[in-house]
Amino acid sequence: MSKLHLITYGCQMNEYDSERVAGLLRAQDYDLTDRPDEADLILLNTCSIREKAEDKVFSQLGALKHLKRARPDLIIGVMGCMAQLQQGRIQERAPYVDLVFGSPAIARVGELVARVKHGGRPVLDAGEGPLVKLTQRPDTADRLKAFVTVMEGCEKHCTFCVVPTTRGRERSHPPDAVVEEIRGLARAGCKEVTLLGQTVNAYGRDLVPATDLAALLERVNEIEGIERIRFTTSNPYNLTPRLVRAIQDVPKVVEHLHLPLQSGSDRILDRMNRGYTRAEYLGLIDDLRASVPDIALSTDLIVGFPGETDEDFAQTVEVVERVAYDNVFAFRYSKRPGTAAAAMPDQIPDEVKARRNSAVLETAARVGAERSGRLLGRVMPVLVDGASRKNPREASGRTRCNRVVNFDAGGQSLLGRVVPVRITDALPHSLRGELTDREGGAPCGSR
Ligand code: SAM
Repeated sequence: MSKLHLITYGCQMNEYDSERVAGLLRAQDYDLTDRPDEADLILLNTCSIREKAEDKVFSQLGALKHLKRARPDLIIGVMGCMAQLQQGRIQERAPYVDLVFGSPAIARVGELVARVKHGGRPVLDAGEGPLVKLTQRPDTADRLKAFVTVMEGCEKHCTFCVVPTTRGRERSHPPDAVVEEIRGLARAGCKEVTLLGQTVNAYGRDLVPATDLAALLERVNEIEGIERIRFTTSNPYNLTPRLVRAIQDVPKVVEHLHLPLQSGSDRILDRMNRGYTRAEYLGLIDDLRASVPDIALSTDLIVGFPGETDEDFAQTVEVVERVAYDNVFAFRYSKRPGTAAAAMPDQIPDEVKARRNSAVLETAARVGAERSGRLLGRVMPVLVDGASRKNPREASGRTRCNRVVNFDAGGQSLLGRVVPVRITDALPHSLRGELTDREGGAPCGSR
């Protein structure tokens, strides 16, 4: 048996890809190890979304250089988004890297590693392979909750984003393959799945016959053992009334939606090529709240996009107030190679981006705290997924609307169970509660 050490950066999709690669290489007799010094193969699964993510990878590669020097037959590979985007720079800055391949080629990982072994020369592959599902989950993977990629790639061409280059065209996994994988997960004890796609709500339109995410959610809902279904990331442009109805009607679909706004200014949304206006976005929020009144909403924002004025930024802050998100992820705009926005004039100075980032996060924290306050006194079903991070004697879990709740389980082992918890405290990043025998009313908290 050979040893594989995997280092994963970036989003949930990368975590899923790492599990896929571990499964595929298992078939080639590679066992996972958490020790780089005993590995025969080290793979870095990378992210390119912002420059900082790439810097981390280069510094990790620097740290691995001495291992390669000491053991020249150690294979070092870089996979994922950065591998697709920065092949030349990787070769230039880390010539000791043996293998570079993007996520569209994951299915071929076994063959690529074999080529390195037998050819003795670096292997570079930016091509596409067939779609492949997870073959085997590593023993270390979470048993209760799992990510399941349902579509690859993105064809949106937002002007700030490298994803269409790094992950290729949109390709949906057939519904039968997705259902089969989730059935297997459920048999192994999984209770919650998160369906993943760069634009997950564009799922199925490339299939023959075409289908959609709402239909897939209905099928996953039928799988025995699965209690909760999440999906991410949705693009407002593709949020159909059918999907809103599915969130309302499909029982296992949770009352939480991550709906990236990016900017609250029409001028900036247009320059970003997002395909919707502020009014259209707010209209979607109204539709969602009319159908699922207690829905929890989270979003992504980019601050300091080229040309963003104080006035544009103020409009973003205003939308944050108006929507009252449960959670906001704000990013400073990062220039990405080959994207249209990188060539735009009026790039914003770093200090302005930093100031806007802090300002919008301050508003988001206040609004989020108000949302949390509304949950006080409510009884909510909590899926117990482990121990509290701060106090290992306490249990920890999540509400359907994705809030962390810590509570005293009275010494019982509740792992994997959904239990009613009354919310007693709302802290900045989590809730506290007490176990009750009263069942929760509406799942995300109506009294
Ligand atoms: N595909 C999804 C979408 O378009 O909504 C999300 C993809 S990305 C992994 C997650 C977030 O990173 C985006 O929603 C965006 O806010 C942020 N992001 C993407 N490109 C960026 C860039 N060049 N600079 C800063 N943030 C960026």
